[in-house]
Amino acid sequence: MAIINDHFLKLQAGYLFPEINRRVNAFIQAHPEAAPRLIRCGIGDVTEPLPQAAIEAMHEAVDDLATHERFHGYGPEQGYFWLREAIAKKAYQVHGIHVEVDEIFVSDGAKCDTGNILDIFGRGNRIAVPDPVYPVYVDTNVMAGNTGEAREDGSYEGLVYLPCTPENNFVPDLPQEHVDLIYLCFPNNPTGAVASRMELLKWVEYARANHAIILYDSAYEAFIQDPDVPRSIFEIPGARDCAIEFRSFSKQGGFTGVRCGYVVIPKELNGHDADGNKVPISRLWSRRTSTKFNGASYIVQRGAAALFTLEGMAQTDVLISHYLGNAALLLNACRQAGMRVWGGENAPYVWAACPDGLDSWGLFDKMLTEANVVITPGSGFGSKGEGFFRISAFNSRENVEEVCRRIHALFAQ
Ligand SMILES: *Cc1c(COP(=O)(O)O)cnc(C)c1O
Repeated sequence: MAIINDHFLKLQAGYLFPEINRRVNAFIQAHPEAAPRLIRCGIGDVTEPLPQAAIEAMHEAVDDLATHERFHGYGPEQGYFWLREAIAKKAYQVHGIHVEVDEIFVSDGAKCDTGNILDIFGRGNRIAVPDPVYPVYVDTNVMAGNTGEAREDGSYEGLVYLPCTPENNFVPDLPQEHVDLIYLCFPNNPTGAVASRMELLKWVEYARANHAIILYDSAYEAFIQDPDVPRSIFEIPGARDCAIEFRSFSKQGGFTGVRCGYVVIPKELNGHDADGNKVPISRLWSRRTSTKFNGASYIVQRGAAALFTLEGMAQTDVLISHYLGNAALLLNACRQAGMRVWGGENAPYVWAACPDGLDSWGLFDKMLTEANVVITPGSGFGSKGEGFFRISAFNSRENVEEVCRRIHALFAQ
């Protein structure tokens, strides 16, 4: 008899995106004439073609594999030196942030990394997650057995939820209790919030005082426009011995279908064994990576490295500006319609309070049936997301302009 990991049975069945699809499909079945009008601003996937520099580099990489001289088989599990060096220099050192080549671990994406990192942590850690939250942090902890059962509102026993609300500008306050692992994500998905240097400093000081580790997801770093907003947790003094950073080329370079990301683990970062002895986290992650991963593909890593060339950076800027231009239009349209809005300035997401006393799914249904626009209900990201919704700026300009007109028609009096 094969016994399963029964922690999986605690996972909530009605996961957000399947439920969105179910409602959209039911609506289209009932109103087939509305199908061509439907605009999806729901799932956070990019829409625009890849930067040309990445395309050319990947074509060349394919040609390399066609020759004996430039053939590449298995590469280093931690990633090719030339990509790790480009990341260290262009993503960190030019900004004055201390990150070294051998502290970077290239992967096939940040979703996998933020889930897989739990492999190297033991049982019994107190784990803090923001609410609302990127669901991956929660579900991977459920699978790993770090939680109890689900409650009525979809939250889990055993996790420490950090409320993110208009009162704290969606940057969580320090917990009253001790925690060991803390997930933070800035610029945030789903709220689009960013944290200031002072706010991150408070978290770093808390983590150091509690021997806790911050798991810092900065998948949306490329969207930061404001020079005062920290781009990395490692800009914060003291972060090198209490934080891991996750980054991705998915949103920066449109690589959601190409798959490449990386983890940064400073050499000074330690966890503790059961006897309280320090153990370097990077040693464990390196061992895990060598055992369970055979590296991101050569072709993909060539494409990622090309994003750091002069042309690649210029093309990436164009891509980011396109999405941020969309975000600005959506932010303005919601504001004009009388809604309270957040995000959308250093992030590709606009977060809005549902108008007219609607709850998140009520607003979702209204937008779907009356405006034929798909948004993401805030309650799908956690109980503190109830009463809010997320609009994604990942779309064509044409679609965004049409969505803005429909929001105006639906809500502006
Ligand atoms: C999109 C996203 C990622 C990136 O995931 P990939 O697996 O690299 O595509 C990571 N974290 C958050 C919060 C995201 O929204």
